[in-house]
Amino acid sequence: GNDSSVDDLGNISVVVRVRPLSEREIQRNDDTIIQVVSHEQIMMRPDVKPNGQSALSGAQSTFNQTLTAKTFTFNSVFDQTATQSEMMDKSGVGRVIAMAMEGYSTTVFCYGQTGSGKTHTLTGPPHLDKPDPFSEEHGLIYRAFVHLFDRLKENTKSDCTYIIKASFLEIYNEKVIDLLNLSTFKKPLQVRWSRASGGFYVENLFTVECEEFDDLLAVLEEGMRNRAVGSHGMNDYSSRSHTILTVHVISELQASEEGVYLSRHGKINFVDLAGSEMTKKTNSQGKTLEEANNINKSLMVLGYCISQLSDPRKRNGHIPYRDSKLTQLLSDSLAGNGITLMVACVSPARSNLSETLNTLRYAARAKHI
Ligand code: ADP
Ligand code: MG
Repeated sequence: GNDSSVDDLGNISVVVRVRPLSEREIQRNDDTIIQVVSHEQIMMRPDVKPNGQSALSGAQSTFNQTLTAKTFTFNSVFDQTATQSEMMDKSGVGRVIAMAMEGYSTTVFCYGQTGSGKTHTLTGPPHLDKPDPFSEEHGLIYRAFVHLFDRLKENTKSDCTYIIKASFLEIYNEKVIDLLNLSTFKKPLQVRWSRASGGFYVENLFTVECEEFDDLLAVLEEGMRNRAVGSHGMNDYSSRSHTILTVHVISELQASEEGVYLSRHGKINFVDLAGSEMTKKTNSQGKTLEEANNINKSLMVLGYCISQLSDPRKRNGHIPYRDSKLTQLLSDSLAGNGITLMVACVSPARSNLSETLNTLRYAARAKHI
């Protein structure tokens, strides 16, 4: 990879993953309204039932907007049969890792309503306590760790040496909590800006040097465990908070025979966002961005920043990263010289029609050229 690969693909790419119908949805005869029509196109067909009959009952006119077919185009679309390893191989995470190794700031984030498959996609099912390294269930994070260390091993013969570090934090109600340090649940950390650190950073965030794959895995597991403890099993907690697991890739390259070293600092943020339905709850209560603070300001600001960045006329103007903790911490990967991969997760069920439509519209806006 080089700089041109950024230009070719744009710095924000968007893929969609459709999860299978759940047991509960099947039991209550919910039907599928999503069709993946190609590797890049997804269609909503709320107008037809699975048996081919029209879904428009007498009371609903054919002008009913929510019941018309709509097609969306993305970088890639994955249907309900997509496996975890296919997500790893085809979503673009490999490219993200390669860019981070070259010193870029990158982000992989999952967006979607609660229950749409964000955590499944990033981490896999919650019961992977004794991780079987060959389990098909492992999510993108585990697979990215494997991929990264494979790449590092291939590199041992080159002049480049790498140092890997990791941190794991959560943003809940605009408070930054260190998932590797339980005391921060009571005393949240501050986000600061400095030129020396290249932008925004979290003060006193625990950052662990990871010499091998198992060290990275330990960070993931410890953070997940602390999150469960710190949240005290609070209802709705995981749908209202964002987690960011950051892998820093610091490299030193011997640039000349005379021993001139070039040092680069890339990173990958893996972000499991709050449920996107939170944004709508905020809006429907007619709250302003300020008042939304308590519900989910970050999610609204993220959407706003991304839509500004994806509009060439606004891209170079003021982007309000400072309006939320989440956008502060992701700003370098969202901006021109970073790389962001958005994985929009959706349910195929008719009962989730309006949330799915919202997610696809949000995702389409991020890809707008
Ligand atoms: P979210 O994190 O978006 O709230 P989850 O990842 O917890 O959603 O998924 C909700 C449920 O659906 C979980 O039980 C999860 O195991 C299941 N699920 C999600 N995506 C898939 C998938 N692609 N294949 C199988 N099960 C899935
Ligand atoms: Mg989740």
